Amino acid sequence: MDFSSDTAAPAHPSVLEALAKANEGPAASYGNDAVTAELRGVLENVLETEDFDFWLCASGTASNALALSCFCPPTGAVLCHAGAHIAVDERGAPEFFSGGGKLQLLGGPQGQISEDALRDALARINHDFVHETPAHVLSLTNLTENGTAYPAETVRHYAALAHETGLDVHLDGARLANALVHTGATPAQMSWKAGVDVLCLGLTKTGAIGCEIIILFGGARKKFAELKARAKRSGHMPPKMRFLAAQALAMFEDGLWLDLAATANQRARQVADVLCRKPSTELTQPVHGNEVFVRLDDDLVRRMRDAGATFYPWPDGSYRLVTSWNTPQDTIDALSGLVD
Ligand SMILES: *Cc1c(COP(=O)(O)O)cnc(C)c1O
Repeated sequence: MDFSSDTAAPAHPSVLEALAKANEGPAASYGNDAVTAELRGVLENVLETEDFDFWLCASGTASNALALSCFCPPTGAVLCHAGAHIAVDERGAPEFFSGGGKLQLLGGPQGQISEDALRDALARINHDFVHETPAHVLSLTNLTENGTAYPAETVRHYAALAHETGLDVHLDGARLANALVHTGATPAQMSWKAGVDVLCLGLTKTGAIGCEIIILFGGARKKFAELKARAKRSGHMPPKMRFLAAQALAMFEDGLWLDLAATANQRARQVADVLCRKPSTELTQPVHGNEVFVRLDDDLVRRMRDAGATFYPWPDGSYRLVTSWNTPQDTIDALSGLVD
């Protein structure tokens, strides 16, 4: 019973097959290969646009930090939620990659920046006052760290507010597929159509081995040369890029990534429903994706641990249970047996 993380899940077999298929003879390196070229065409369909450039990374932290560093100068700041992965879980990588850019933390319930907090922060930006650190980027996360999904309309609204103030908009989509499945938005609606300038589209947690796509849209494409230079300088220029591209091709084929996310989301719903059969259980966040945040009584926690269930405590005294494409129905049934 593994509810520790979707990073603990195996890769989907289609991804491994795609790697074997890409493993034919020599191919040009650093993204100049046929598999990466094929991915470009597939992304044009997935994103419903040709107006983008992309780069492949093996970790979400690298993709976030690289992406942000192209938009936030060392003397600037990034607006993000106080619980954002970039603020809490990246060991200062965004600050490091940007050469000292600051993260300015905003509040709001359910892991989502509140409109008031965003408006306040935007209103305070003053590039002429040398003592403060003006924000250059708004970073949103979808799913959020609390497992909730921003609707595409909110992303669009927040992006419009940010653009009015001259900021660029970054979207951390380590669990984008889960958010898309929950909201019903298309990748385009949740990204460039909503005003996102740079998207970190994660496929690792969804079912790849390690594949994160940084996508620069529209006017942000002027940062592509800088992005590549920064990728090289920081050691995130995979020579055999075809094997990253192959993972993405497998994930996008016939919408596999969304199917896998739908399964993961459904399993999380089941976990929540099973746990909530106990009156003492309290969901601390709505379940939108593949994460369940929940208060559990100590007796149930002990029984779950004794049965070999793995899951992490959350700082507020609750627990986080994460499902994946690979969480079997058996696991839900076994959990169910422990609750009654
Ligand atoms: C997991 C995650 C990442 C990336 O983490 P890595 O371990 O570096 O791949 C980024 N953002 C969010 C919101 C995440 O949940």
